[in-house]
Amino acid sequence: MPFKPVTITDSFWKKRMEIVKDEVIPYQWAALNDQIPDAPPSHAIQNFKIAAGEEEGEFTGMVFQDSDIMKWIEAVSYLLESFPDPELEKRVDELVDLFGRAQQEDGYLNTYFTVKEPDKRWTNLRDCHELYCAGHMIEAAVAYYEATKKEKFLHIVCKYADYIDRVFGHGEGKIPGFPGHQEIELALLKLYQVTGNERYLYLSKYFIDERGSQPHYFDIEKEKRQETEEFFWHDPEWGPYSYHQAHLPVRDQKVAVGHCVRAVYMYTAMAGLAKLTDDPELLKACETLWENVTNKQMYITGGLGSQSYGESFSFDYDLPNDVSYTETCASVGLVFWARNMVELNVDRKYTDVMEKALYNGTISGMDLDGKKFFYVNPLEVYPKATEKRKDHEYVKPVRQKWYTCACCPPNLARMISSIGRYIYSEKERKLFVHLFIGSETEREISGKKVMIRQHTNYPWDGKIQLNIETEESVEFTIAVRIPGWCKNATLRINGEEVDLQSCIRKGYAYLSRKWHHDLIELNLEMKVERMRSNPHVRENIGKVALQHGPVIYCLEEVDNGAGLQQIILPRKSGFTVEYHGDLLHGVNVITAKGYKIKQGTWNNSLYASKEYEIAETTIKAVPYYAWCNRTPGEMMVWIHES
Ligand SMILES: [Zn+2]
Repeated sequence: MPFKPVTITDSFWKKRMEIVKDEVIPYQWAALNDQIPDAPPSHAIQNFKIAAGEEEGEFTGMVFQDSDIMKWIEAVSYLLESFPDPELEKRVDELVDLFGRAQQEDGYLNTYFTVKEPDKRWTNLRDCHELYCAGHMIEAAVAYYEATKKEKFLHIVCKYADYIDRVFGHGEGKIPGFPGHQEIELALLKLYQVTGNERYLYLSKYFIDERGSQPHYFDIEKEKRQETEEFFWHDPEWGPYSYHQAHLPVRDQKVAVGHCVRAVYMYTAMAGLAKLTDDPELLKACETLWENVTNKQMYITGGLGSQSYGESFSFDYDLPNDVSYTETCASVGLVFWARNMVELNVDRKYTDVMEKALYNGTISGMDLDGKKFFYVNPLEVYPKATEKRKDHEYVKPVRQKWYTCACCPPNLARMISSIGRYIYSEKERKLFVHLFIGSETEREISGKKVMIRQHTNYPWDGKIQLNIETEESVEFTIAVRIPGWCKNATLRINGEEVDLQSCIRKGYAYLSRKWHHDLIELNLEMKVERMRSNPHVRENIGKVALQHGPVIYCLEEVDNGAGLQQIILPRKSGFTVEYHGDLLHGVNVITAKGYKIKQGTWNNSLYASKEYEIAETTIKAVPYYAWCNRTPGEMMVWIHES
């Protein structure tokens, strides 16, 4: 499956890629090298030097510290495709050389167990993230190979994966285990796709199939460790190891439970595997889980995780706005999963969710300058509650610089820098346009070169142009997504209107003809929509969220004053949408006439049988992803409606 580069020309995403290149990548490099004075030291590179026997010292950091470097390399690799940088590439080459020197004779490569507990290798798959780190290393190596065609890193991870393949599985002397934190499964599929070596495909399949089978491997290894205490988290309904989605074989799982990031990484791998092994049973399991997550457990921002306990799913329709966990990584993982679902079955229900996460719950994790990050992305913040209430402790009212557990910033960096991989796909002489992002890509269809240039000001308006240039006339299908949020779309080819009703299947307009020098003009009508929740969602009754195109809006204290809960949006109020180029790096702002409940005569009473006094106000909403980039304060997505 050859990799096809896409050049991003889009003002929304290119700007973010540049911020990742200019701010995030250098900052993370400094952090990895312990050069940020007020951030906790990472020690990650140091750990590899110690593992290679080149420096003295102790392993420092989390058991999964290695993965921070790998996510950094992965993001750098995607960036190198768009912004060649010999200096940066040299830095990665030096790291790869270091990894080679730290790799053990048998192929093993993990600094924690090499340096700190060499005799404990593979003794605690449940908690110790060895296979997780291996997965991130594999993903980094595949991305670096695709960007540079340099094979050294790929050889290192193949040697490691071959060793893992010898160690794990059924049979004499093998460990019948699987990882506590899923990740290697999806990474092995990438390694298979780039090397063609089927052993990696079957190793991924083994890890997926073995998960949750009885006797339970986590019990077996626990007994060997002579551990008596119970694991700290499980859902009482689903029982032991539901935190790890290992409570049941994956094919029997129908409801998303446990730690969200682990879950979405596993679902991503399941979907990839279902496609590559043509497994209808696994496909069915993916679809069932998709319906549960996106119809019952997902925030309107594409956020996942209703509770901090176990950073996990809770139960259907439990979507509290102020104590959500909604980790950036979980939304990033949702994007990966949606991408693999749409590969299996082209249906806009997957791409709509992917887009929702891309424009809302993922990029909210980073400030507009790329310097600070949210780990948790709630839909409502009252700063005083985050400071004073113990049960809001993990919700931060402002983005933070760097975390000891620095999973989210590099995860976001790799998603943004690889955005080109989500826009188009190809299948049997069909070219799919999933996302509206200004870009250029050259494809080969029926042996002919096809150039596609996309121009748009999305997500600020719904006008999209696709220029198709082929070296000679070639017949194929271009399938363009018509997003679910759009109630009125028109499409023209070379000025001639196409009857969309006759060519739409599962939300994609299939345009079949001989293409040569052609122009597709898509116009997606964008209106402010008052979104409401299923009435089972207790928190949102009587409230609306504002959506314009794919973007979810929020109210901020800086625009609307303190006491956002006192704001009321009347049903009859119309909306004005205006683009402000100088605000928040350029955003649409929504305004509407509304009311605010006044303090009035309430000063000395807590409860009283009297009416509220109200005053007219102008409600101003900005994109949710851009909140907390000005004066910190309250924020609210779901607004009272009257
Ligand atoms: Zn994270």
